[in-house]
Amino acid sequence: VRARVMEVEESPGVDYDDIGGLAEQMNEVRETVELPLESPEMFDDVGIQPPSGVLLHGPPGTGKTMLAKAVANQTDATFIKMAGSELVHKFIGEGAKLVRDLFEVAREHEPAVIFIDEIDAIASKRTDSKTSGDAEVQRTMMQLLSEMDGFEERGEIRIIAATNRFDMLDRAILRPGRFDRLIEVPKPDAEGREKIFAIHTQEMNLADDVEFSELAADATDASGADIKAVCTEAGMFAIRDERTEVRMTDFDEAWEKIEADEEATGDVTK
Ligand code: ATP
Repeated sequence: VRARVMEVEESPGVDYDDIGGLAEQMNEVRETVELPLESPEMFDDVGIQPPSGVLLHGPPGTGKTMLAKAVANQTDATFIKMAGSELVHKFIGEGAKLVRDLFEVAREHEPAVIFIDEIDAIASKRTDSKTSGDAEVQRTMMQLLSEMDGFEERGEIRIIAATNRFDMLDRAILRPGRFDRLIEVPKPDAEGREKIFAIHTQEMNLADDVEFSELAADATDASGADIKAVCTEAGMFAIRDERTEVRMTDFDEAWEKIEADEEATGDVTK
């Protein structure tokens, strides 16, 4: 069961340099996750406790998972990922058991960063808490909070959660001692988009006419994941045209294709 729902990576291979345009968010993650892992004595000396849990929130594909992987990589911590949706089960007690397993795996691999994506799946405002399915989801969340409570004695485990639906979260999980540090991860601005284009075209053979600033200016509202997709698609247009160099027109065509695909699948996020 563990292998199926948990992703465990000894060194996730993402560096801070791979992330474009999130300088402020990166600093906050370093201060709240990296510092307590690397210099726990600083917190002891000052006499404060580091935040229990960090919650990253923002639109899909903006780099939340990357941030969590980069901090694990930087601290030589094992990266352990689970999606909140994987914790929602039909059978009573199964979600809570998976949460216990999650922390057990983390203890076996200390130092570790636990990353729970889609935390909203187990921590949404409930419309009707009387139905049994909701009660089970709530038990799963309670188990997570109780594991987090035992943190001080747990040593080198840090926990990061992420959500695209901050407005739907049950505010109870944001109380002190829980996910008490919030970091918003927005879509990139023009400067951020420019950096993300540079990152994702690093290995590409680009024609001289390719201007990152122009690409970034045209890509209003794109997420980092959208930009990555466009770069790959632009490369595909060059291949179809039997060229090894990727031109500005390839990027234009790539945008058109991706937008048309999104329209066809009814995705209106971009
Ligand atoms: P979701 O909420 O959908 O899980 P997420 O915010 O966790 O999304 P990531 O998984 O971190 O998004 O990003 C998906 C991919 O998009 C990354 O692997 C990367 O290639 C690209 N990407 C997203 N944001 C950035 C960024 N800021 N800089 C560079 N690449 C990015």
